[in-house]
Amino acid sequence: MKIAFIAHDRKKDEMVNFVTAYEHVFQGHEMYSTGTTGQRIMEATSLNIHRYMSGPLGGDQQIGALVAQDELDLIIFLRDPLMAQPHEPDISALLRLCDVYGIPVATNIATAEILVKAIDRGDFGWRDLVHKYKPGIEE
Ligand code: PGA
Repeated sequence: MKIAFIAHDRKKDEMVNFVTAYEHVFQGHEMYSTGTTGQRIMEATSLNIHRYMSGPLGGDQQIGALVAQDELDLIIFLRDPLMAQPHEPDISALLRLCDVYGIPVATNIATAEILVKAIDRGDFGWRDLVHKYKPGIEE
């Protein structure tokens, strides 16, 4: 599975603790992240993560491009709901693409926990739905 991690600044400790706790589940999957989030996770774990640019500098859009190219299966995106982000349009665009392509995206730790347990069980049934309802270009 191809999994992406993004965490806003005040959510980075939460992300590091979460990924550390489930490191055994993430091991063996292909992982991507925005710049600082990935750096923090790699400092705390032995996971190897392909890091894109920092979110405010285009990282969210790079991850969005993976979604649009059908190269991502799941995103854990711990957003800070209590602080305005300068790159809010990029964040909205990424979440929109996840809805367009039916990509599961956890925006809080509780949903992330449910998704990681599904990964641990090998429960990837959502992919069939995604392909069944895959959008086409309507003219
Ligand atoms: P970062 O980007 O991982 O580089 O901090 C995430 C964000 O803040 O959008």
